[in-house]
Amino acid sequence: MSVRTVPLTLPSDDLTQPRAADVVLIGGGIMGVSIAYHLAAAGVRNIVLVEQFELGSGSSAKPLGGVRANFSDPGNIQLGQRSLERFARFTEDFGTDIELSRVGYLFLARTEEQLAAMEEATARQNSLGVNSRLISPEETGELNPYLNTGALLGASFSPEDGHADPSAVVEGYAVAARRLGVTILPRTEALEVQRAAGEICAVTTNRGCITTDAVICCAGAWSAQIGAQAGVELPVVPVRRMIGLTPQQHAAHPAVPFTLDLGTTFYFHNYRNGLLLGISHQQEPGLNREYSNEWLAEFNAAARICAPQLAEPELASGWAGFYEATPDHNALIGQDSHVAGFFYATGFSGHGFLQGPAVGELITDLYLGRESFMDATQFSADRFMNAESVLHEVNII
Ligand SMILES: Cc1cc2nc3c(=O)[nH]c(=O)nc-3n(C[C@H](O)[C@H](O)[C@H](O)COP(=O)(O)OP(=O)(O)OC[C@H]3O[C@@H](n4cnc5c(N)ncnc54)[C@H](O)[C@@H]3O)c2cc1C
Repeated sequence: MSVRTVPLTLPSDDLTQPRAADVVLIGGGIMGVSIAYHLAAAGVRNIVLVEQFELGSGSSAKPLGGVRANFSDPGNIQLGQRSLERFARFTEDFGTDIELSRVGYLFLARTEEQLAAMEEATARQNSLGVNSRLISPEETGELNPYLNTGALLGASFSPEDGHADPSAVVEGYAVAARRLGVTILPRTEALEVQRAAGEICAVTTNRGCITTDAVICCAGAWSAQIGAQAGVELPVVPVRRMIGLTPQQHAAHPAVPFTLDLGTTFYFHNYRNGLLLGISHQQEPGLNREYSNEWLAEFNAAARICAPQLAEPELASGWAGFYEATPDHNALIGQDSHVAGFFYATGFSGHGFLQGPAVGELITDLYLGRESFMDATQFSADRFMNAESVLHEVNII
């Protein structure tokens, strides 16, 4: 089966590490390459991106990622909307087919409480220009014939959302960034981020030292370690998540929206001529990303309620990656208030693919000290110093 989860190796990798840079990005996932591209496109020069393994080999290696503006928090809605605009013209802008499929997102409600939360979120989305609506169990069943409509009270449907291929997006940004002069160094691990007098002054890697006064941490699940090197607390923990892929059939399954049950987090959608299935199975935090079928028991229990046909699925393959989880399941995007020159874009808690294009723009604007398309203050890591400003996002997958 052709599943493009392979990490990306760009042609003619020159691994000569510059001795100085205007900015060093740590991490070559969707965030690192998007930020590198946006910085370079805005005219920033002497950018170095270091990636400890291969580009796109972290969480961004997922075979297919959901893209949506169907969130409950205004900040996440705006990030989703902005990214969707960029995904929609990605092929035109970068010449890379990202397999964008705008089949919509379908969030299922099975309790009055979930339905009320969806109603509130839908009103907020509509007020920000998102085309989403609450629908009846009957209409939900028409959109997705796998569903047991008897178990549903309703659903929220956002037809302009969907899914796309993360490794194609990583490739598109990486190739464009390199064309604009960014030095991209795979197999290069940031070992130490150095400070002098409260300011960033260098990054040491396995290839030597790069003098710089700006570091952008986009190290995904590994970000807390990078923060600690710089004396910055980034509350990000790695949590393993697994998905399964059913065999590719000769004919496609019925085309369904990206469907997710709010109560159990059970989800599924088409993956070419197969289905991609998953659930946010309870896990201890840690850097283990070995795939196992242990999530299936929870998946099967949820499927028996929501989509009985999908219980006990035949799987052709599976994949494990990390949610880079923060305490409130929302991103950390900002600039440290104590260590000058330390920026971060991490902790996307399961939404990092869909937020990649927008965050590339946001961090670039922050770095250049200019106004952006939205105010990102709410995503600052400083919010954890003040419990009242912690964000509350209902749609956690
Ligand atoms: C099962 C599953 C399903 C998901 N579904 C979705 C979805 O539907 N939609 C969605 O938007 N998101 C989804 N996500 C989340 C999404 O994949 C991530 O949020 C996103 O890929 C994060 O991108 P990133 O660039 O921040 O991190 P990563 O892709 O993990 O990149 C970070 C990189 O930093 C590198 N690095 C770390 N430390 C160092 C160091 N010291 N030196 C050099 N390099 C270093 C790592 O090797 C890694 O390549 C899902 C995740 C999983 C696991």
